[in-house]
Amino acid sequence: MPVVKYIQAKTILSHVKGKDDWFGLKYNMNLYRGCAHGCIYCDSRSECYQIGDFDGEVLVKENALELLKKELPKKRVVGTIGFGSMNDPYQPVEKDLNMTGQALEIISEWKMPVHIITKSDLVLRDIKLLKEIGKIYSAVTFTITTADDELSKIIEPHSPTSSERFRAIGILSATGILTGITLMPVLPFITDSEENILSIVEKAKEAGAKYIIPSFGMTLRDRQREYFYGRLDAHFPGLSEKYRQKYKNYYSAGTPGYKKLSKLFFDKCTELGILTRIPKFSPGIERQETLF
Ligand code: SF4
Repeated sequence: MPVVKYIQAKTILSHVKGKDDWFGLKYNMNLYRGCAHGCIYCDSRSECYQIGDFDGEVLVKENALELLKKELPKKRVVGTIGFGSMNDPYQPVEKDLNMTGQALEIISEWKMPVHIITKSDLVLRDIKLLKEIGKIYSAVTFTITTADDELSKIIEPHSPTSSERFRAIGILSATGILTGITLMPVLPFITDSEENILSIVEKAKEAGAKYIIPSFGMTLRDRQREYFYGRLDAHFPGLSEKYRQKYKNYYSAGTPGYKKLSKLFFDKCTELGILTRIPKFSPGIERQETLF
């Protein structure tokens, strides 16, 4: 597991540039740099993000909560704060440090909406806070790429299994918290079977997920690509060569048979009444002085 180190951050809440069509985020927040879940396809390893030793260390922004307390009152526009864009806010170190939990407490006091992406059922610890924030808006999105726990242990080695994530969706949904799934990436030749996609949609329905947001394919760039191919060689002999031939140095590796697969996915979601976009918080509301 990665070594935990502490750093001082200059700022904590960043503005999301432009309109965020995926989740409707206005602000982004990363309490950690690096992620111990070790997903073999993780894009955050890419050189462009300049996270030095992504798999060797997790950096904790020691002053993040102080910064949040200072920066939140200055945000005049109420808009969704996103957790989990570059790391998992509920990765193992969170269990001891409770940085995400404390940040949610502060956000709850300031009545700001929140969206969380995670692969961990540790988020269940914060149900009470998420319910409170949900009076404005809160949503929890679990990334699930395979319905097969054995496969999830290979491709997402240090995160809770897919079954544990479906179970957590069930618990959150039952409490009325808006909960869904990001079905991404869909890894060519690994998780792109019709059986896998349909199984995820069916299990999502059983668990009470309200939405599934898909992306059929994956990114492949510099350091991420080398790491991914190394893991393929360890677990799927011969597959990295197939990737090299098909995707060369392309940034984007689309799922073969995308059209058929996506039709299958969207038809199944329609049949089961699952949305394929997340219901977003409406941004742009001016903060009411009387409320604060
Ligand atoms: S949980 Fe997300 S950030 Fe963490 S390793 Fe996996 S893909 Fe990367």
